[in-house]
Amino acid sequence: MLQINEIFYSLQGEGAYSGTPAVFIRLAGCNLSCDFCDTDYSLKSFSSIERVVEEVRRLGGDCPMVILTGGEPLAQNETLALITTLQNDGRRVHIESNGTIATELPLDVWLTVSPKERLNDTMAARANEVKLIVDKRVPLEWLQRFGERTAVFLQPEGNKPENIKLAIEAVKADPRRLRLSLQTHKMIGIR
Ligand code: SF4
Repeated sequence: MLQINEIFYSLQGEGAYSGTPAVFIRLAGCNLSCDFCDTDYSLKSFSSIERVVEEVRRLGGDCPMVILTGGEPLAQNETLALITTLQNDGRRVHIESNGTIATELPLDVWLTVSPKERLNDTMAARANEVKLIVDKRVPLEWLQRFGERTAVFLQPEGNKPENIKLAIEAVKADPRRLRLSLQTHKMIGIR
C-alpha cells in the first residue's frame, strides 16, 4: 500500500514546467528531517496503486502530467510500480526529490532534484532539473555535482524580496547556467 498525504489537481508553479496543469500526488514520509522544512508530509491515508490512479482520473481527467512529490516520493517501496501504472494510463510522470535515494527511473520520467543536506551522485547525474533554494545565500556549492546540461533554477525561499534580489544577481552573473524560479502558485493563491 502507498502512504498518501494528499492528491490534488493544480498547476505546476515552479521550474521548467511552471504554468502546466498537473495532478499532484504527495506521498507521505521523508528520509530526511530538515529543520527548515515547512511541508506537511504526514500520513493521511493508505491507498492501493489502483485507487491512486482512479483518483488521478477523477480529479484531472485526461491531464497528461502527474507530479509525485513529498516528503520524499522515492522513499516508498511501491513508487516505481505507481510510476509504471501511471505511464500505462497515459500520464507523463514528474518526480520532485531530495536526490538522496539511488533509484533507477524510466528514461521518460522528469526528475527534479532539490538538494538538502546530502546528495546521491547517481541521482545528481539523472536529474533533468535542479532547484536550489536561496535563503539568505545562494548555495552554488551544489553546482559542481550536476552536469553542464542540467537546467539549474534558483528559487528564492518564500518569494522573499531579499532572496529574490540575491537570486537575480546570481542568475545575471552566470547567464549560461542559471535561471530564476519563483513560486508562482503562491503568488496567485493556489496550491
Ligand atoms: S527533504 Fe524536503 S520534505 Fe524532506 S524534510 Fe527536507 S525539506 Fe522537508
